[in-house]
Order: sequence, then structure tokens, then C-alpha cells
Amino acid sequence: MVYTKSILCQLNGGCMGCCGHSFVSKKKIEEAIKKNTLEFMGVDLRSEEELIEFRDRALPRDLRDGVCRNLIEKEGKIFCPLHPEQNDGRELRTGHCDINYLCRTAREFLSWSEEKQERFLKFIDSKKLDNIEYSMKMNDNSLFMEFTEIN
Ligand code: SF4
Ligand code: SF4
Repeated sequence: MVYTKSILCQLNGGCMGCCGHSFVSKKKIEEAIKKNTLEFMGVDLRSEEELIEFRDRALPRDLRDGVCRNLIEKEGKIFCPLHPEQNDGRELRTGHCDINYLCRTAREFLSWSEEKQERFLKFIDSKKLDNIEYSMKMNDNSLFMEFTEIN
């Protein structure tokens, strides 16, 4: 299964900007991910059955303070255990979220020259954001807006 991706989704410890919506606050996002991670404990990443059982414990629209209930954290990295990169290419998100969705920033980024992309990557790096701060700014396109104002 092919899905749309952007290098921007991998930066700053992993972006979760489109793994939910109407985020309440950074604290609430962190708490939601922590609770999801606790619920994920004991799930065997190699078992498709267990991953699907974890996924289907809640409906896709049943978010936790705006955050998808599948989003978990390990060693400071935020990730989706249903993503093909986490389980030998098996795509387990189908029907649960739009695997081809790209935020406005990621879409615009793809259309830029290599040189402009490099400048944007340096601009992001200069902000020294953690993964949640980065995700929120990708979700609301504020990094993109700030960058395009000066470029
Ligand atoms: S918000 Fe944008 S950069 Fe972040 S994961 Fe989604 S598409 Fe990728
Ligand atoms: S299923 Fe995974 S990729 Fe899709 S919104 Fe939830 S955490 Fe994000």
C-alpha cells in the first residue's frame, strides 16, 4: 500500500500534527499520548491481530482531547503503531484515518525548489521546538506562515 509522505513528518522526533484535531493544549496532548501508551502496553507489535484489537478499541472519531487514541510514545519519539514503517510494511491505518493526507505546509513544501526546502528545514531547526510544539505549529501552519512572510 502506498501512502503520501513528507520529510516534514519525520522531523523533531516525529510530527503528530494531523493525528487529531482541535487540540486543547500541549499538556493535554502529552497526557493523551501517555494514556494511549499505557493502553498499548503488552500489545505485541508483530501481531496484526493484537494491533487491530488495539486500534478497534475505539472508533476513529473517538479522540482523546483531540488526539487519536492510536498515537503512542517510546523513548521520546511519537509514532503510530499501525503505520507500515512500524510493522514490516503492513498498513493497518486504512479506514481509520486518511493515509494520504498532507497538511498545507507539507503540500506547499513539496512544490518548492530544493534550495527553498533547505532554507525551510534550517528555519525549523533554528526554532528548537520539541515534538509537540512542532506538531502544533505544523497543524496550524504557523511555521509556514512565518517563513513565507520573510521568504
Ligand atoms: S501535520 Fe503535516 S508534517 Fe505533520 S505529520 Fe501531518 S502531514 Fe506530516
Ligand atoms: S491512526 Fe495513526 S496515523 Fe492515523 S491519526 Fe491515528 S495515530 Fe495518526
